[in-house]
Amino acid sequence: MSDLDALRLEALTAVASATELSEIEALRVQYLGKKGAITSQLKTLGQLPEAERPGAGARINQVKTEVDAAINARWQSQTAIAEAAKVQASAIDVTLPGRGLQRGALHPVSLVLERIEQFFHSVGFESVVGPEIEDDYHNFEALNLPAHHPARAMHDTFYLTDSLLLRTHTSPVQVRTMESQKPPFRIICPGKTYRVDPPDPSHLPMFHQVEGLMVDEHCSFADLKGMITEFLRVFFERDDLKVRFRPSYFPFTEPSAEVDVQCVHCSGTGHCRVCSSTGWLEVMGSGMVHPRVLEMSGIDSEKYLGFAFGMGPERLAMLRYGVSDMRHFVENDLRFLEQFQ
Ligand SMILES: [Zn+2]
Repeated sequence: MSDLDALRLEALTAVASATELSEIEALRVQYLGKKGAITSQLKTLGQLPEAERPGAGARINQVKTEVDAAINARWQSQTAIAEAAKVQASAIDVTLPGRGLQRGALHPVSLVLERIEQFFHSVGFESVVGPEIEDDYHNFEALNLPAHHPARAMHDTFYLTDSLLLRTHTSPVQVRTMESQKPPFRIICPGKTYRVDPPDPSHLPMFHQVEGLMVDEHCSFADLKGMITEFLRVFFERDDLKVRFRPSYFPFTEPSAEVDVQCVHCSGTGHCRVCSSTGWLEVMGSGMVHPRVLEMSGIDSEKYLGFAFGMGPERLAMLRYGVSDMRHFVENDLRFLEQFQ
């Protein structure tokens, strides 16, 4: 029995100083396993006088229970410490200031498209879109540009096949609308257009256009002038902006006019390079829809009149934001783009 007391003390001391879980598990085997030191004590009971056996057996079991409890307690406390250390190692300090997310912004051309749409929606126009791959008929023929028409040369066209091409303007969307809807209607057609133009400060092979069309029984050149003048004053945020209409030629309108605004950089004084010292900036083309164009799309040109206009969002963005080179719009240079936030 003195052996048992010594064994008990030895086991409890060893357990109390064990730190590793593997160490604790080894102690369990060493003392309480099938061949463990305390377990083995039960096998010595046979050597004792019969009267002493029950008392000695109870005493051994008591020590066994005590050591077992000590091992379990130690196991639990060391597990908790190990867990806490693991959590500590991977901890995130939620009190640190955030790193911050960089916010993106709309592209300047998108901003301009938004402004154009906002104005025209407010005066009853609806946005309509159409395919970027067009057929020759909708891009040219139906707009009074038959094959071999000299004005076709102005459109340096990307042909995909003999009859399919990348649209050179968004006018074919107007044709498709006239074919499928009954007047009256007011539409604008924003979208991408393509021409074989090597990139330079004022040209890109892909650029945007917004064309507008109004067809109604009562629709005059005066309506066109009023609408466009109001749009340009709202767009450039100048109530007194001077606007002039210069006679011009487009195959799909008659009469046709180029629209100029007083230079927004030098306020029309002409002391600047943006307007080449003229004091005026050309901003869009316009005109009354050619009766032949109406007829080709099945609209009675005796009953209906229409006006149309077209502008380039890249050009308007350059004038509005003072951008000197159109190529900046497609270079994806963040230093340029972040200025429009
Ligand atoms: Zn100027």
